[in-house]
Amino acid sequence: MLARIDLRGSALPGVRELSGLLPRAATDIDSVLATVRPLCEDVRIRGAQAVREITARIDGVDLEDFAVPRDAIDRALAEIDPTVRAALEEAITRVRRVHADQARTDVTTQVVRGGSVTERWVPVRRVGLYVPGGLAPLLSSVVMNVVPAQIAGVESIAVASPPQRDHGGLPDPGVLAACALLGVTEVYAVGGAQAIAVFGHGAGSCEPVDMVTGPGNVYVTAAKRLLRGLIGIDSEAGPTEVAILADHTADPVHVAADLISQAEHDPLAGAVLVTTSEQLADAVLALVPAQVAATKHSDRITTALEGSQSGVVLVDDLEAGLRVVDAYAAEHLEIQTENPREVAMRVRNAGAVFVGAWSPVSLGDYCAGSNHVLPTGGCARHSSGLSVQSFLRGIHVVEYDERALAEVAGHIDALAGAEDLPAHAAAVRARRPA
Ligand code: NAD
Repeated sequence: MLARIDLRGSALPGVRELSGLLPRAATDIDSVLATVRPLCEDVRIRGAQAVREITARIDGVDLEDFAVPRDAIDRALAEIDPTVRAALEEAITRVRRVHADQARTDVTTQVVRGGSVTERWVPVRRVGLYVPGGLAPLLSSVVMNVVPAQIAGVESIAVASPPQRDHGGLPDPGVLAACALLGVTEVYAVGGAQAIAVFGHGAGSCEPVDMVTGPGNVYVTAAKRLLRGLIGIDSEAGPTEVAILADHTADPVHVAADLISQAEHDPLAGAVLVTTSEQLADAVLALVPAQVAATKHSDRITTALEGSQSGVVLVDDLEAGLRVVDAYAAEHLEIQTENPREVAMRVRNAGAVFVGAWSPVSLGDYCAGSNHVLPTGGCARHSSGLSVQSFLRGIHVVEYDERALAEVAGHIDALAGAEDLPAHAAAVRARRPA
């Protein structure tokens, strides 16, 4: 079921060539843009009427108004299964604990006597948070988006999640209940690229936002790429991926279960085992079909595991394994080796790292306290997961007095001259006595 890629026996190529050898989704966001661009344009030009027509066409729901009424949000909380409510509350507590430690304080650097630079951390004013709801209603994504935004001090928070046919066109009740638990009352029943366009351009009662965050499928990710600039985005948190770096000490039952658990998200999800142990690879390959057959969403899991984005990669040793996982830059990376913490500390590229046998990705999806909105498609080479920092901007506040400016005026003069920008120097000279 999973493809086998054997990189043993010869030196590994450079990062670029190595990335090309590794399993990765064939879907390229740029090609999805051809579908997404007209949807976003339509929402920009025709607003709520376009949203209504697109939602009817793609989601099969005809909604006069996609704003979710307040009483539906309250009702969802009143009716939620108490065990799910307790689990959500525990997840919120843990995510709050971790993210509270990310809060930033303003720092003033006294550069010289009379001259200082203060870095002020100012929250984005209004954000749109996307909560997936196509294949699975990701109530946990409400927690992962809303908690860091609230800790950052964002003043205005709106949530969008796809309308569900079997819930009268409202988002999933679990998603609404999670919003209620977190005090979010502005919620829209709209999904996919059209939701990102509603946030970006404004439509109906939804005012445009300054920034959109949250995970989603390829349509959501493509729309975020398209509207970036008009709005800020977090990272491209598209179809999920897990890579597992494992040696002979790993339990093949755990490894197979963890590959399958991420594949459950999406037929485009990627699941990659990188291992030094042929025995482990064989055992995992032997276990996967039966474990998949026994699970509920076996169709989409099979598609994900058989796709070009999934596979088992054999390497000579852990050094080579680390090079492979760094080249892959997985959204989630599990380390199931001897001394896993030591190995984990050597990883350079990953959205989040899960250390040892007792830290499966599912823990991070819900209740570890870490954030599950993470960069995919290799973006972990340059981007981080969602955090309090994602919602903050650092503003430098520069304050020099007359003497401190006079002290450095000669240097400004020299640099302005070197750049052939004499008006720069003149602006400083205009402040000095002749
Ligand atoms: P989703 O809410 O992202 O997308 C559903 C919406 O997509 C629908 O409402 C519909 O409007 C739109 N859509 C579906 N088919 C379309 C088409 N053919 N053309 C145009 N629009 C279409 O829900 P999903 O599909 O279940 O995807 C959720 C994704 O989020 C999964 O891929 C999962 O892996 C990913 N995820 C990523 C992270 C991360 O941090 N990277 C975290 C959690 C989930």
